[in-house]
Amino acid sequence: MNKLENPLDSDIAGPAPRHRTTQVKVGDVAVGGGAPIVVQSMTNTDTADINGTIAQVAALARAGSEMVRITVDREEAAAAVPHIRDGLAKRGITTPLIGDFHYIGHKLLAAYPACAEALAKYRINPGNVGFKDKRDTQFADIIEIANKNNKPVRIGANWGSLDQELLTKLMDENAASANPRDVRAVTREAMVQSALLSAARAEELGMPKDRIILSAKVSAVQDLIAVYQDLASRSDYAIHLGLTEAGMGSKGIVASSAALGILLQQGIGDTIRISLTPEPGGDRTREVQVGQELLQTMGFRTFVPLVAACPGCGRTTSTTFQELASSIQDFIRVEMPNWKTKYPGVEELNVAVMGCIVNGPGESKHANIGISLPGTGEAPAAPVFVDGKKFRTLRGPTISADFKALVIDYIDQRYGQGAKVPAPAAE
Ligand code: SF4
Repeated sequence: MNKLENPLDSDIAGPAPRHRTTQVKVGDVAVGGGAPIVVQSMTNTDTADINGTIAQVAALARAGSEMVRITVDREEAAAAVPHIRDGLAKRGITTPLIGDFHYIGHKLLAAYPACAEALAKYRINPGNVGFKDKRDTQFADIIEIANKNNKPVRIGANWGSLDQELLTKLMDENAASANPRDVRAVTREAMVQSALLSAARAEELGMPKDRIILSAKVSAVQDLIAVYQDLASRSDYAIHLGLTEAGMGSKGIVASSAALGILLQQGIGDTIRISLTPEPGGDRTREVQVGQELLQTMGFRTFVPLVAACPGCGRTTSTTFQELASSIQDFIRVEMPNWKTKYPGVEELNVAVMGCIVNGPGESKHANIGISLPGTGEAPAAPVFVDGKKFRTLRGPTISADFKALVIDYIDQRYGQGAKVPAPAAE
């Protein structure tokens, strides 16, 4: 390996430069062209249920979703969209709404002009916008309405609803070729071509490039990475990233993070969605939280203060430090919507909650404020570090509450009006 090939020889740690894309405005939100990577989400309410959808969009927006997609699958849903937009506006929520259309989007958008107007972007699936001779006219109808309303579109190919005519054509060509490719490689090519050909058609129909976002979602991590690398290398359209059907719980989070993390590191992706399946009765906003944490832990954006906590080991036989780490994390999530306006810059705060003396003081010194709790057999004292220096030692049954109070004081003094960081006191 020569010197340039060994990343350990480099002083620079970080992602590749962002893939150059054309910027698209979705409502007030800039996507691509060097704008910060946008986190979006999708509701799972029946869009015809106006109040239910307003409540979920509001929750997603409060959690930090910068755009929210809603399904528009039938007339009742299309009729509800302007009322949802109005209801959100009354709550002071201006987060752009994206309409997700399949099969009959052309009819719904034509029949419900107030829906077409209320949405900030239309998502079109080239695999089901129409079939055979109707495909082109139905696609053209949607583009025409988007052009009339000055709305951008996302042309979103999906592995599960891939354009079958295009796939069959490519498969036939492949079978007749002297060196046929692997079937999955041909399917990936069909995904990329489906998105690019539709985008080219939209441009022919008068849609400017700065109103087109592309996606090509696949459910397998390696296929997704290959498809998006190809898509990015063959165009400069703004790109929406997502692993489709990521799944539930840790599997969905790990698969999405692995796939999107690699692409983001390569400079690919202008907006992301984490397609998590919620547990029954689970919280839909989890997908927003995961998207934010992915971008923040990779160093692309800051959304909320991060809590670093050690995993614990045989030195932590009590649950005190897990409870404290969890309660600080929850506290930050709950308070963040208020802190955003009250404490500008607080999202850059780092808090450490550590389990014992081995790594506790060292890690706590790297944080803005950190605590090293006593491990098994250690003296029942918990030193607190502020900006790298020992600030105070907490003792007794109220360590958790006392540390939380110190975090609040720190935030208030550092990020509040007349901010002043507490001076570390020698003990
Ligand atoms: S800091 Fe202490 S308690 Fe935490 S993992 Fe390391 S050795 Fe274990």
